[in-house]
Amino acid sequence: MLDEFALIEQFFARATASGEDIQLGIGDDAALVTVPATQQLAVCTDTLVSGRHFPLATTAADIGWKALAVNVSDLAAMGAEPRWFTLALTLPAADADWLRGFSCGLAAMAAVNRLSLIGGDTTRGPLSITVTAGGWVAPGASLTRRGAQPGDVVCVTGTLGDAALALRRLNVVDADHARDAWLRDRLNRPTPRVAAGRALAGLAHAGIDISDGLLADLGHLLAGAGGDSATDSGGDTPAGAVIDVRRLPRSAAFSARAAANVAVDLQLAGGDDYELCVCLAPQNVPEATQRLAALGVPLTRIGKIIAEPGLWIEDEGGQRACSLGGARGFNHFSERGEGL
Ligand code: ADP
Ligand code: MG
Repeated sequence: MLDEFALIEQFFARATASGEDIQLGIGDDAALVTVPATQQLAVCTDTLVSGRHFPLATTAADIGWKALAVNVSDLAAMGAEPRWFTLALTLPAADADWLRGFSCGLAAMAAVNRLSLIGGDTTRGPLSITVTAGGWVAPGASLTRRGAQPGDVVCVTGTLGDAALALRRLNVVDADHARDAWLRDRLNRPTPRVAAGRALAGLAHAGIDISDGLLADLGHLLAGAGGDSATDSGGDTPAGAVIDVRRLPRSAAFSARAAANVAVDLQLAGGDDYELCVCLAPQNVPEATQRLAALGVPLTRIGKIIAEPGLWIEDEGGQRACSLGGARGFNHFSERGEGL
C-alpha cells in the first residue's frame, strides 16, 4: 500500500511544469505563481463526486480527464488562457492501477491545454475529486455572464445532447459500437472550448459554458442581462430569450441514435455538453463564425434575446413558454436533482 507521499511522488509530482509565471509547484507548503503584469487571474473550482458526476463504471483515466476538463471549460467560458491547477483528491484506497489511469487521463487533458499541476491535497474517504484551475485574461476582455442585450443573437459551439444521450444509452448494447463509443467520449472526454472562448472574448456580449443543460445555463445569461460584462455591475434588467429547437445543432451520431420523443429534451436539458453559449450583436455574428471556423469549431445561431423576461421555445407547434430554474437542467438540490 502506498503512503500519501509516495503516491504524490509517483503519480503527480512529475506533472509540475514551469514557465515564467509559475515559480514553485508541488512539494512546498504552497505554490508560487506570478500573474503577468497585463493580465487578470481567472480562477474556478469544480468537484466531481463518484456516482453523481460520473457513473460508477467510468474508467479512472476518463475521470482524470473530466475532472480537469470541467474546470478548463469554466476558464474557456471566461475567455481565459488556462495555466495551472491544484488537485484535492479523496480516495477510498491507494490503488496503484486506478491512480495510474487517473493520472494519465489528467495529464492528457493538462497537456492538451498546457496546464501545470502545482499542488493539491490527498486524503482517504469516498471518491471525490476537486480541481481548482487558474488562468490569465486581459482586464476588460473577459467573457462573463453579464451583458446580454435584447436583439442579441444566441449561438452555441459544437453540438448539443451527445453526452446526455450517451448517459441514457450506457447500458444499451447493439450493433452500432462506433457511434455509441463516439457519444460516450463526448460524455467522458469533453473538449473544453478554450480557443473558441478566447476568440469570442471582446466580441460577444456574454457567454457561459453549458454544463447543466442549455436552458439552465441560458437562464444564467438572462439573469445577468443588461449588466456590464467587464465588471460585476448590473444584471438588473433581466431579459428573455426565444430558442428555435429546430436549429439546435446535432451530431451525426446523435441524429442516428436519439429517439425522436426525447431528442429535444436531451438537447435542451441534458447537460454535460461543455460547449459555449454566447450572446452576440447581430452584426458580429459573421465575424464570430469566421473566427471559430478558423479554429475548426462550428458556431450555430439558435435564437435571440428579447426584452420581455422569460424563456420561449419555438418549434413546429409554434411558441410556448418554458419555465426557468430548477425545473430544467440539473440542479443538485432541486427535488428532481437525483443524480445518476
Ligand atoms: P501539507 O501537509 O503542508 O498540506 P501535503 O503533505 O498535503 O502538505 O502535500 C505535500 C505537497 O504535495 C504539497 O506541495 C501539496 O501541494 C502536494 N500535493 C498533495 N496532494 C497532491 C495531489 N493530489 N496532487 C498534487 N499535489 C499534491
Ligand atoms: Mg495538505
